[in-house]
Amino acid sequence: MTLIVAARYLVTSGLFAAWTARRFPGRLAGQGAQVRREIGWSLAAAAIYGVPAGVVAWLWQERGWTRIYTEVADYPLWWLPLSVLLVLLAHDTWFYWTHRAMHWPPLFRRVHAVHHASRPPTAWAAMSFHPWEALTGAVVIPALVFLIPIHVAALGLVLAIMTVMGVTNHMGWELFPRRMVHGSAGRWLITASHHELHHQKYRCNYGLYFRIWDRLCGTDRGLGDFAVPRVRAKHQGPEQAELAA
Ligand SMILES: [Zn+2]
Ligand SMILES: [Zn+2]
Repeated sequence: MTLIVAARYLVTSGLFAAWTARRFPGRLAGQGAQVRREIGWSLAAAAIYGVPAGVVAWLWQERGWTRIYTEVADYPLWWLPLSVLLVLLAHDTWFYWTHRAMHWPPLFRRVHAVHHASRPPTAWAAMSFHPWEALTGAVVIPALVFLIPIHVAALGLVLAIMTVMGVTNHMGWELFPRRMVHGSAGRWLITASHHELHHQKYRCNYGLYFRIWDRLCGTDRGLGDFAVPRVRAKHQGPEQAELAA
């Protein structure tokens, strides 16, 4: 499972990094050392993500203990999209609160500073987490498949959304059309414009897929703007971010 997670990371981040390099030649110039660090932390995180995923895959195949199902007819058709939405909402809730907790200065310095060391982040930062943070992320979906019945293909869709959004939210440009991002869908869905502002200002925009928790808790500061060139010096260090908070 670790090898699958690592390969999924390398292929997805590699594709979007290559696309970024084509669209914005020279974007990664001077960021070689940072990208190598991002890949190193991400591969370590992949090793951690692989363990609960492997345990759950074994329990599913050998013991039938999970609520993953393979016959579409086992549940009503409307359950397919609803199960995807429920898993994403639950994952988003877990992510929002653990992410907010990790911005508490003592935890930030020891754990979450690794992720924010990417200034500005690249497509390779998608899994650039300290092992403790990787562990908090690795257990969510494996735990949810014991609670929420989900078709194996719907679970594949959840993992695909998780992977693609993790990469595109860090790559430094907005993939989705402006009309969508600044329209009614963008008021609730998180894309790169939202997460970029988290990497610039630190104490806001903590969500993963949805802006619901940020809006409810008053931590939503709107969308960042990629029209301004991403300059490394524009990004605060964690020290200033803590002071600003
Ligand atoms: Zn991030
Ligand atoms: Zn953060």
